[in-house]
Amino acid sequence: MSRIRIFDTTLRDGEQSPGVNLNRMEKLEIAKQLERLGVDVMEAGFPAASEGDFQAVKLIADTIKNVSVTALARTRKEDIDRAYEALKNTPNPRIHVFLATSPIHMTYKLKMTPEQVMEQSVKMVKYAKERFPEVEWSAEDATRSEWPFLAELIEQVIEAGATVINLPDTVGYTTPEEYGKMFKYMKENVPNIDRADLSCHCHNDLGMAAANTMAAIENGATQVEGTINGIGERAGNVALEEVAVALKIRGDRYGFETGLKLDEIKRSSDLVAKLTGMYVQANKAIVGRNAYAHESGIHQDGVLKNAETYEIITPELVGVSSNTLFMGKHSGRHAFKDKVNAFGVEMSEEEIKSAFKNFKTLTDHKREVTDDDIYTLIMEVKTEQSAIEKYTLQTFQVNYGTQNITTATVSLNTPEGETIQTAATGNGSVEALYRTIAELISYDQKLLDYQINSVGGGKDALAESHVQLSVEGQAVNGRGTAQDVLEASANAYINAVNRYLLKTQATKEEVVNG
Ligand SMILES: [Zn+2]
Repeated sequence: MSRIRIFDTTLRDGEQSPGVNLNRMEKLEIAKQLERLGVDVMEAGFPAASEGDFQAVKLIADTIKNVSVTALARTRKEDIDRAYEALKNTPNPRIHVFLATSPIHMTYKLKMTPEQVMEQSVKMVKYAKERFPEVEWSAEDATRSEWPFLAELIEQVIEAGATVINLPDTVGYTTPEEYGKMFKYMKENVPNIDRADLSCHCHNDLGMAAANTMAAIENGATQVEGTINGIGERAGNVALEEVAVALKIRGDRYGFETGLKLDEIKRSSDLVAKLTGMYVQANKAIVGRNAYAHESGIHQDGVLKNAETYEIITPELVGVSSNTLFMGKHSGRHAFKDKVNAFGVEMSEEEIKSAFKNFKTLTDHKREVTDDDIYTLIMEVKTEQSAIEKYTLQTFQVNYGTQNITTATVSLNTPEGETIQTAATGNGSVEALYRTIAELISYDQKLLDYQINSVGGGKDALAESHVQLSVEGQAVNGRGTAQDVLEASANAYINAVNRYLLKTQATKEEVVNG
């Protein structure tokens, strides 16, 4: 079977999802998981966008060795130079340059003629080729571009050195038949097309991203771009797990395979959901909580007699384990370490010590600690930004009663090392708690979004909270975990404030460093 290459853009296109804001350490953990999953290429970010983006791409490029790391650049020398700087330590770098080719984008956004777009693309692909072995060129808004113009442009950028040609459905507008025909047209009308890989990149605005991707594959695309869980701008990108599993299950129909380790899919999905706060709907294909649950009696009966009656995918195929091994109070440090290794996560002695301490605290309250709990504890430690002076929660108490006014008392440690305390009221527990914390922190704060979820099942499950705050007019996200929902909520709020502090500190450094 021939191989379809998987280009993951969770950290670039996915990170552009509204409300998603990953820090460097979180991006790195996702990158390592993508390496375990076995993607062929990962797009780590857009280095020219900001110092923070640059640093994140550099950290990933310095760490990831077994997957090609790429970064996005406009067709500008500064962008390509910046990407080169960020990617110079990775063994298999690739640059991804893009320019819009549709009449509407060229006229209104770029204010360039088609000839200028052609000239600029060729010039910058040549410039990029002098620095990178692999140059991917994207025709932004390809699906609303004129095919003969696009064909001529593709021929020229391949001549200039492009090794991958991407034809994105940037606005999620195309249909399977139309998108397939476009790939076929380019295959037939670009004389040097065999010197480059053809890539598809679909958005899901009309719910057709997966169908469009499969149509592109049937018509000559050899690379698929997408994200884990399908996160991304607006309605998101195609979900890579859907494409990979569809190719596997319907290999009879498509005749292609990917290099993905399918049993790493669930872990990848969970990690991305956990760190972005973009939880997966229960009925989502492949990774949804209900994707393998059979509810109706007739279905259950059939599955018991022969699983294939109603089950086309086994949960094991994508790493959904039914028999989680529990650890408890008596599990020692050695067993905990084995668990960390089983997840494939590398941790320093210091990090293990810290995670193990949290594990022990958890076993005081929770009899059976699951894999999901432990993974959550590990990720808490791995993604913590320890370098900054920050707020920490010391103690809090909330008094709630249906007849009483809800009151919260909170004591915080400040970045300056003081301990401050106050009390305030609210209509409910979370409101009282948040009001009290807000009173202690002198910035202008507004709560934009609040979520609470449980990790796994059971009434003693860990709680995981995500918040989005506006601090001094800047939107920041925060994430918190604890056994109690209020404590998780408090942690998430304080985490968001700390991220604001980190952002402003980083900006100050940028100014100092010029
Ligand atoms: Zn996109």
